[in-house]
Amino acid sequence: MPTFEYAPAPESRAVVDIASSYGLFINGEFTDSQGGGTFKTISPATEEVLAEVTEASAEDVDRAVAAARTAYTRVWSRMSGADRGKYLFRIARILQERAREFAVLESLDNGKPIKESRDVDVPTAAAHFFYHAGWADKLDYAGLGPDPRPHGVVGQVIPWNFPLLMLAWKIAPALATGNTVVLKPAETTPLTALLFAQVCQQADLPAGVVNIITGAGPTGQALVGHEDVDKVAFTGSTGVGKAIARTIAGTRKKATLELGGKAANIVFDDAPLDQAVEGIVNGIFFNQGHVCCAGSRLLVQESIADQVEARLKRRLETLRVGDPLDKNTDVGAINSRAQLDRITELSEAGEAEGATRWSPECELPSKGFWFRPTVFTGVSQTHRIAQEEIFGPVLSVLTFRTPGEAVAKANNTPYGLSAGIWTEKGSRILWMADQLRAGVVWANTFNKFDPTSPFGGYKESGYGREGGRHGLAAYVTTGDAT
Ligand code: NAD
Repeated sequence: MPTFEYAPAPESRAVVDIASSYGLFINGEFTDSQGGGTFKTISPATEEVLAEVTEASAEDVDRAVAAARTAYTRVWSRMSGADRGKYLFRIARILQERAREFAVLESLDNGKPIKESRDVDVPTAAAHFFYHAGWADKLDYAGLGPDPRPHGVVGQVIPWNFPLLMLAWKIAPALATGNTVVLKPAETTPLTALLFAQVCQQADLPAGVVNIITGAGPTGQALVGHEDVDKVAFTGSTGVGKAIARTIAGTRKKATLELGGKAANIVFDDAPLDQAVEGIVNGIFFNQGHVCCAGSRLLVQESIADQVEARLKRRLETLRVGDPLDKNTDVGAINSRAQLDRITELSEAGEAEGATRWSPECELPSKGFWFRPTVFTGVSQTHRIAQEEIFGPVLSVLTFRTPGEAVAKANNTPYGLSAGIWTEKGSRILWMADQLRAGVVWANTFNKFDPTSPFGGYKESGYGREGGRHGLAAYVTTGDAT
């Protein structure tokens, strides 16, 4: 199929100003660590070192939690909801004003295409602050129960796939409901969280209301285990989620866990196929497949399987893989060498177990971490690539004959985060949505995110919801509850 040649259209890096090293954002200012180390954050597209970042020690975590406690007691819990809302509106507007800076920095540090960070991550992050700003003075009317009150200090740990957006999902509802925050971004993508710390300063947010500490697993462990943290909000892998659940078991801490997924994207023979193919591509190749709710298992009705496969392959041949800062790029870099190794290992297991592997021809850059968009056909339910979360641009295709079989196969996973249904029949959509054990079910679309809509999982995809009225509930206690 003829493809258009595009001239390179790189977004300028000049808009970002990356410091050579960063401290920890505690009590409203950047401070040096007490006893912690440092680590480097790199661009996964080029392996260029972007900055040196602090690895917070247990003492640093202690200082950050103490700052959040003081800010909670003296300032934030006493402030009216209307005033809290003004700060959130201010943050939302600054995010919009500095959107280009955030988008470029996100693409540099994460490897995702600029068109996604520019059109999805940053606007949706701002939308979360706008949405929650509106709730701050209306919590009594949100149907959360009588007298909704904040928990106090919230410890938040987030992953690397949507660094700024996950930060917004965490910080906006926490602040709107009157909690203060200590947040740890992922070790491979700390830079937009550190830029967000500057936004907090710019917004004149009272010191200590938001604290950002960088580091890896041990820092996260120290934060969620800290005895003065009242609530834990975690997004990341199911393995770490389970470890956190064990750490806080038996304590008074509240928790929400947003974990992994292995979503089924289900295409029936009456689906509008061109749209469905776009939805399949968006479902698994958006953000290099580093998406917890990615449609990583395509369940296609047997009668149209060959047709869908042919159209899908033709479409994948047009995807542009390469420089994340090029505005034409569809698929960027894999976030880290460790993640590339995991994707490679699971894909080799797919071949070894007998599935058929296919990728479009495309040249990959010589430096950095890259993986071709990959489709496996002939996948059986017992294959590792049908069971385990790959978290990369790899699609496993299975077939079904009846709606009942589609449901059984879709639900045959330890996860339950999301699913997609493609069909012309409204009644079938409703029936399927009712049967699928998935927190989010999209119909004739996929990967649509909106701050007004709750997001979260069943089974090993975790518990609690983020977004919407339901998301607020996790950040308040009501009635006589303590
Ligand atoms: P990860 O679990 O390895 O790390 C997530 C975060 O936890 C990082 O900040 C990490 O430093 C920290 N961490 C690691 N060990 C810890 C410990 N013992 N205690 C406390 N914190 C610890 O996950 P990841 O590889 O960064 O992210 C990918 C995973 O996140 C995938 O499984 C994906 O499905 C999931 N995810 C889920 C959602 C959702 O909303 N359900 C959204 C995005 C990503």
